[in-house]
Amino acid sequence: MISVQEALRLVGEHSLPLSGEKVNLSAALNRVLAQPVVADRDAPPFNRITMDGIAVNSDKLKANSAFPIEGIQAAGQPRKRLEDINNCIEVMTGAVLPENTDCVIPYEQVNLTGDIATLKSTEHIPFQHIHKQGTDAKKGDVLLHPNQVITPTVIGALASVGVSQVMIKSLPRIAICSTGDELVDIDQQPGPHQIRKSNTFMLHGALLELGIKPDVFHLKDEKKEILDTLTLLLDKYQVLMFSGAVSKGKYDYLPEVLKELGMKKIVHGVAQRPGKPFLFGSFPNSIVFGFPGNPTSTFVCFNIYFKTWLRLQLGLPISKCSARLTEEVRFASPLTYHALVTLSIQEGILWATPISNSGSGDLVHLTQADGILSLNSENPFFPKGKAYPLSLFGKNSLIG
Ligand code: AMP
Ligand code: MG
Repeated sequence: MISVQEALRLVGEHSLPLSGEKVNLSAALNRVLAQPVVADRDAPPFNRITMDGIAVNSDKLKANSAFPIEGIQAAGQPRKRLEDINNCIEVMTGAVLPENTDCVIPYEQVNLTGDIATLKSTEHIPFQHIHKQGTDAKKGDVLLHPNQVITPTVIGALASVGVSQVMIKSLPRIAICSTGDELVDIDQQPGPHQIRKSNTFMLHGALLELGIKPDVFHLKDEKKEILDTLTLLLDKYQVLMFSGAVSKGKYDYLPEVLKELGMKKIVHGVAQRPGKPFLFGSFPNSIVFGFPGNPTSTFVCFNIYFKTWLRLQLGLPISKCSARLTEEVRFASPLTYHALVTLSIQEGILWATPISNSGSGDLVHLTQADGILSLNSENPFFPKGKAYPLSLFGKNSLIG
């Protein structure tokens, strides 16, 4: 059995040829940029007034303290000209700095009487309260690079340079398949020997958080049916995501069917708890994630392996998040222990508290967790205060 680190390395090595797509800016939120974006003009594009007040020529500040008002320069008006540099022009925030002026004095520092503005003080310097043309970026500068998550502020930057349609990285087409004859639909009353299909709903939600809309299927524990369905799915989907049927049970047909269909097995079995039977493989145009069926195993493997794979696919760096244990953990087994944790921040430090749970079938405690702290197998003893790798649940894990 291979280690978690080795499994992650192998998973990360296998990519799909995902194309890019052009979308309207409003549809690009939380997606990943696939193009560089350059400034179409200087930013700011003109000497921009940043305070309401008057604009004067600073050469006259020593001699004058009273400036007759020649006119008003409002935001959105073409640039005006101060005809007599002994005068001033009233200026508004966002307006262009008028010609022949180079200093803005806010209204708070001016007395206005009739058409005269008298300065309360003469302590003013050239270019105060002026956001100078091109100080943020010059026309042609690269403002945004590919592989950047499109946050609301990135949307703002794209809008400011007139990008109404943006190239983003495509997300894979994903089929989620639950497996198992014990599973019934959630609107059915399960018999005493049956359970509801909860994993597919959980995975569906987790993918929706990442902006992916998967299709959902169910496979009975029948070899022929699995083979027929997978043959169809492989034609249509780039990622097949399974919950269950990858262990050593008599009816865990998935590994052998996938093998018959030509899958290259890359990982099957990882020294970890939960999720030991995790399966990962590749077809020429598809990737397979086989998560063990217990809800916690499924969700842990989804977070540890699928999200890492997706980040790499999208050109995002691997998350380097870590958190410190609030209490000592003992785990005397040569396996990496993926502990479900709640998180808290104290004095700027992220702390993880393990949730005691009753094992990998325990969906109730899973709902309380904020993430997974991966305690590697080197040691049976994990001291309080030490930091370990953290996988955060939720869509922020694509960003942070
Ligand atoms: P398996 O990996 O197929 O051996 O399943 C392990 C355990 O997970 C069994 O108790 C299954 O009933 C349970 N399980 C499998 N698939 C699901 C699912 N979609 N929803 C909830 N539990 C599941
Ligand atoms: Mg099963």
